[in-house]
Amino acid sequence: MDSTVPRRWEHAVVTGGAGFVGSHLCTALMDAGTDVTCVDDFSTGRRENIEHLLDRPGFVFQRADVSEPFSVTRPPDLVLHFASPASPADYLRLGLHTLETGSLGTRNALALAHGADARFVLASTSEVYGDPQEHPQNERYWGNVNPVGPRSVYDEAKRFGEALTTAEAGEHGTDTGIVRLFNTYGPRMRGYDGRAVPTFIRQALAGEPLTVTGDGLQTRSLCYVDDTVRGILAAAAHSMRGPVNIGNPTEITMLELARWIIRLTGSPSEIRYIERPTDDPAVRCPDITLARDKLGWEPVVTAEEGLRRTIAWYREHTAD
Ligand code: NAD
Repeated sequence: MDSTVPRRWEHAVVTGGAGFVGSHLCTALMDAGTDVTCVDDFSTGRRENIEHLLDRPGFVFQRADVSEPFSVTRPPDLVLHFASPASPADYLRLGLHTLETGSLGTRNALALAHGADARFVLASTSEVYGDPQEHPQNERYWGNVNPVGPRSVYDEAKRFGEALTTAEAGEHGTDTGIVRLFNTYGPRMRGYDGRAVPTFIRQALAGEPLTVTGDGLQTRSLCYVDDTVRGILAAAAHSMRGPVNIGNPTEITMLELARWIIRLTGSPSEIRYIERPTDDPAVRCPDITLARDKLGWEPVVTAEEGLRRTIAWYREHTAD
């Protein structure tokens, strides 16, 4: 972590804690002195992501599908609901599971928080903005989502999760927050999860062509995972209901990203253009004014530094 996390909680439950973002969250919380129960079904996460935590006092791993009612052995004072497939390759393969996790799973995680009088934070996503017609996107924009398109299993699950979280706060008075994460990258993303950064790094390190979709001019804003985790914990420590955007406003085209990764890895790889997926957003960039003003948060890791750290990790780990 780049900055210290204030010790604000005794015991946090992190659903999806064995995934990419969740495992970094568990680590940051543990390092700050908060006990953590990680609840995960390993549908897209893996044991290696939390291996370094398993023997630490205060860390408990519980294998469970949060779409089924679940309980934990000790009441939490914070529930971070991060369970959900997140990469398009995963949620297209696990459509019904994604919808159930976003609906029933969110319901069950909210019930846990309500029963324990804990703060609850939902991991939502910039995908709620769909293929946006406003740019950059601020939290007041309602989005442009195709409800029957292939990505709808994820986008609509998250939109429903936001509605559920909002209704829960209104009807039960549960202390809830919603973070809308924009593309995050870093160590522990699976090399074959289909997202651009791990795909390009895996291809560059193997000397294979980097597969850029469409003309590569579509943009994303990439936030290094340490920055994202700091933003999430700042929102958790605040009483704001949100939603609040957490992302890096520096926009980059996919073609630029591929060229950067070729340069930073020193790879002989070339670029190969492939077909662009249906409903792939043309642009994505967060307006983070709200996070800056209310949370005092903004990303600090530059793209060059974040990519260097991520590439270093992939050099040491097999890209499976
Ligand atoms: P990930 O796939 O690496 O992690 C998700 C974790 O949730 C996995 O460990 C998986 O096994 C677990 N999970 C899925 N369904 C479950 C269920 N029903 N019960 C228990 N565990 C379950 O994905 P990630 O990139 O770490 O994303 C984590 C969260 O952050 C997701 O909610 C995602 O929507 C959100 N998010 C991530 C990004 C990003 O760029 N990484 C961007 C926006 C939002």
